[in-house]
Amino acid sequence: MKILVLNCGSSSLKYQLIDMDNNNEVMAVGLCERIGIDGRLKHEAEGKDAYISEAPLPDHNAAVKAVMEALLDKDHGVISDVSEIGGVGHRVVHGGESFASSVVITPEVKAAIQDCCKLAPLHNPANLIGINACEDIMPGVPQVAVFDTAFHQTMPEKAYMYALPYELYEKHKIRKYGFHGTSHKFVTQKCAELMGKNVEDINIITCHLGNGGSLSAVKNGKCVDTTMGLTPLAGIVMGTRCGNIDPAIVNFIMEAEGLSGKEVDNLMNKQSGVLGLSGVSSDFRDLEAAANEGNKRARIALDTFHYTVAKFIGEYLVALNGTDAIVFTAGIGENSASSRQEICNYLTFLGIKLDPEKNSQRGKAQCISTEDSPIKVYVIPTNEELMIALDTNRLITA
Ligand code: AMP
Repeated sequence: MKILVLNCGSSSLKYQLIDMDNNNEVMAVGLCERIGIDGRLKHEAEGKDAYISEAPLPDHNAAVKAVMEALLDKDHGVISDVSEIGGVGHRVVHGGESFASSVVITPEVKAAIQDCCKLAPLHNPANLIGINACEDIMPGVPQVAVFDTAFHQTMPEKAYMYALPYELYEKHKIRKYGFHGTSHKFVTQKCAELMGKNVEDINIITCHLGNGGSLSAVKNGKCVDTTMGLTPLAGIVMGTRCGNIDPAIVNFIMEAEGLSGKEVDNLMNKQSGVLGLSGVSSDFRDLEAAANEGNKRARIALDTFHYTVAKFIGEYLVALNGTDAIVFTAGIGENSASSRQEICNYLTFLGIKLDPEKNSQRGKAQCISTEDSPIKVYVIPTNEELMIALDTNRLITA
């Protein structure tokens, strides 16, 4: 069966077509950008020239149509008929408390996703538009929703409640939800495989360190705590997001700078993190280069990032009463040997030691700690699209 994986943003649509019967081969990948503005589609398929179309994409329906045309195109395409697509898996950012796992999309599921729009106003509406567009263009093809929040629904109350008036939780569902769940789940399953254990038998700390980043404490294969909160702004220092700060700072900045709440929210989401600290970049490659050339603020940004990640690992050692392993994944976690080393330098009191040779390698799922390290450290490339395709395939063949 071939599964189309879609990740719809407000003006973009990323897709992959994956052949589940051929070793989960990625047959095509692509991106529609500037939907509703002008439109651009980039499509790549194994063994074929990349294809770029600048035909207008006035809305998501047009984008889904353009994706189908690219997949069916006689020169750049990979299928000869729409009926070859057995199912569509959608990344949906917020499932609130309604979804602890992926589900086949029904009118009731769409209504529940709609209900969660207030919790993710930038993402869920776009996800719904993508679902509706597929229903129009591929009627009858089963669709599955895979939620970023689902993996974290196993957190106990003591981990997800904020110490605010309880009525705010009852009225508005203000609580910790967590994000990147598909990635945390994927690397948890891979880690169990690499350790030769059942997923129910592992206690690990997963560190998804990308432009956005979060850590999860995973006990017996289930999430018991995570660093992101009601929104993806909370937790570690990120590319442009501040992560956890004193909540009174919001009001302080509003008064000191004469900004509205929305403007401060924007400042904390888009102008903060390592970008705000360094004034250089949100990209760790730029920061590492600048720090190596003596840029003090780039160094401060990197040090702050590593320190906050290491401190959360400390928190999760408490949540798990120890850990079998620490897993690094996503852009920084998979690629930056120096970040992994600097984070682990805070953990030498546990006996954790990295093998410098293994830590310098890239692109491979492997253990990078020394034989005698009592807690194992892994690098595991994440693959959220594959996780979405696997869940979609499982649900529609069930
Ligand atoms: P992601 O959000 O998972 O795609 O991660 C993107 C981030 O990964 C970029 O902003 C970079 O900061 C980081 N990254 C990617 N490649 C490297 C690399 N070779 N060295 C250091 N950081 C990297």
